[in-house]
Amino acid sequence: MARNGRPMYWAQGYRRRWRLLATGVFLWLLLPGQRWLYAADTVRDIAFPVSGTYTFSDNFDDPRSNGRTHEGVDILTAKHTPVVAATDARVRYLTIPEASWGYAVYLQDADGYQYRYLHLNNDTQNTDDGNGGPEHAFAAGIVEDAVVARGQVVGWAGDSGNAEQVGSHLHFEIWTPDHQPMNPYESLRQAEMAARYRPDEQTAASPTINDDKRLTAPSGTPRCASGTLIKTPEFSAVYYCGADGKRYVFPNDRVYFSWYRDFGGVTTVDANVLAQLPIGGNVTYRPGVRLVKVQTDARIYAVARGGELRWVTSPEVAAALYGTNWAKSVDDLPDVFFANYRLGAPVNRAD
Ligand SMILES: [Zn+2]
Repeated sequence: MARNGRPMYWAQGYRRRWRLLATGVFLWLLLPGQRWLYAADTVRDIAFPVSGTYTFSDNFDDPRSNGRTHEGVDILTAKHTPVVAATDARVRYLTIPEASWGYAVYLQDADGYQYRYLHLNNDTQNTDDGNGGPEHAFAAGIVEDAVVARGQVVGWAGDSGNAEQVGSHLHFEIWTPDHQPMNPYESLRQAEMAARYRPDEQTAASPTINDDKRLTAPSGTPRCASGTLIKTPEFSAVYYCGADGKRYVFPNDRVYFSWYRDFGGVTTVDANVLAQLPIGGNVTYRPGVRLVKVQTDARIYAVARGGELRWVTSPEVAAALYGTNWAKSVDDLPDVFFANYRLGAPVNRAD
């Protein structure tokens, strides 16, 4: 009977433990300031507001003088580091002339959330003179009611207001549509993850065009060998034979050489064979290899898997990813090929 008794004993113990646990959870829920209770509405899909090197921790709700609490998160970053719009928004408020609490700008998105940037720079270059004026705090065009795009530079970090003692940082707040400050920490953490881009990791994650395009084998016998380069004797155009049995077009040499060193591996096939292979689309740049830009747009983009273009929001970030000579890594992407790509999250993290 000992065998039967054991599960019985276990079940009783389990029930007791469960009761204790349930009581514990209940008491824990009663504790003041349980942020977990509000978790569902505490994450906004934002771009990280600092474009450069920074550190931050969750110091929302920290006690401040006169019984106040800290209504934002402090992102420590060097003076003059660009701060960017967290989302597509409109400038609702900015302090011109400088307020006693420094330079600040408030953005409001279409859902009514506000993103508040405090302690923007008030010094002239390489000084702590406090004489910077609005042009050293806010980017050109940042005026009340201006429309800003996610990732757009709205100003520069600094130490205006009471940040003078702490050192340069961006104090960042998010306010709900019903005018409550919410903890921006989780939103910032998620933005940080989304903003991450490492060229070498990107390149390694797409060893072949099949991987990059996630091509898989169709049923039946493929009409060309997956992963090979093919051409006809008559023409110089080289195609990639995809795992899906379709051929993929290299729109130009630049794209080709992001994947291959030379034309050594190209096999010649009969024109009739080539004609039977349907065209699958254009090959896009191998991720991580080159930066691209289109003529109609001043932005520099990094390329991620599957032809995803990710706007590199500042020269500082470009230099951190591709070295100080990053400009030499930029290819002009003819506008006509822009359609082969789609836009992803901006890259604004330099570390
Ligand atoms: Zn702060």
